[in-house]
Amino acid sequence: MSDCIFCKIAQGEIPSKKLYEDSDLVAFHDINPAAPVHFLIVPKEHIASLEEAHARHEMLLGRILLLAPMLAKELGLTDGFKTVINTGKGGGQVVFHLHVHVLGGGKLAHV
Ligand code: AMP
Ligand code: ZN
Repeated sequence: MSDCIFCKIAQGEIPSKKLYEDSDLVAFHDINPAAPVHFLIVPKEHIASLEEAHARHEMLLGRILLLAPMLAKELGLTDGFKTVINTGKGGGQVVFHLHVHVLGGGKLAHV
């Protein structure tokens, strides 16, 4: 997707504060943090939202979730963290490239 901001970040075309990268995933700090620690885990493949994910993405989705505690620990979130996936307009999604928010390090709104 040529006009997708997270595709551009994944491809290194626009800068980000990158935390992690492998052949399938990238993680970077959110530009407008909602908590002292707030980063995003993003598949390099353009999947518009969780609604667009298919069975073939099962492994990828699992890898995203397993990466969250690993990076949270590296960033000092020893007390736990929150994961959020906004899906579609009704779910508050703004960037239509699947991403998992990971937040922590302060008092978070309870969902
Ligand atoms: P969502 O509402 O789940 O689509 O959230 C999109 C998130 O992407 C927001 O928290 C934004 O602050 C974040 N965001 C947008 N552009 C960038 C960017 N260039 N680098 C890092 N985070 C971004
Ligand atoms: Zn994209």
